[in-house]
Amino acid sequence: MPVLDELYQELIIDHGRNPRNFGKLKNATHIKEGYNPLCGDKITIYISEKQGVIDDISFDGEGCAISMASASLMTEALKGKPVKYVDQLFADFQHCVMGQTCETKALGKLAALAGVRKFPMRVKCATLPWHTVRAILKDEKGSASSE
Ligand code: ZN
Repeated sequence: MPVLDELYQELIIDHGRNPRNFGKLKNATHIKEGYNPLCGDKITIYISEKQGVIDDISFDGEGCAISMASASLMTEALKGKPVKYVDQLFADFQHCVMGQTCETKALGKLAALAGVRKFPMRVKCATLPWHTVRAILKDEKGSASSE
């Protein structure tokens, strides 16, 4: 589906250049840094959690277009969602960028990143924001890694 591929590429370029929810969160209850040594992507995720819900989420840092676009799309997807929803969505997303098939309906715009499965090095860029969020919500010590 070349038309869909093009559309998805535009979405990644757009979010990579103009990331949504970019910047520090003043009332953050959780802050964590994630680092992908293979590419040099470094992002910090800020979450304000209220009664088991991701009330607000943002990120900042520096990285390649894929990591920035993935973080941007992820913050859009997770804002206002229950914390327990994260694992399920990440599992679907991981399946999409690493597996053979992609259930685009459940993922919405996140499916735009499905193309990275052809580039194993880029999979780490796409999943870095997710690993960081999961580390936050599990209150793991130290910084998250895409490894
Ligand atoms: Zn990267």
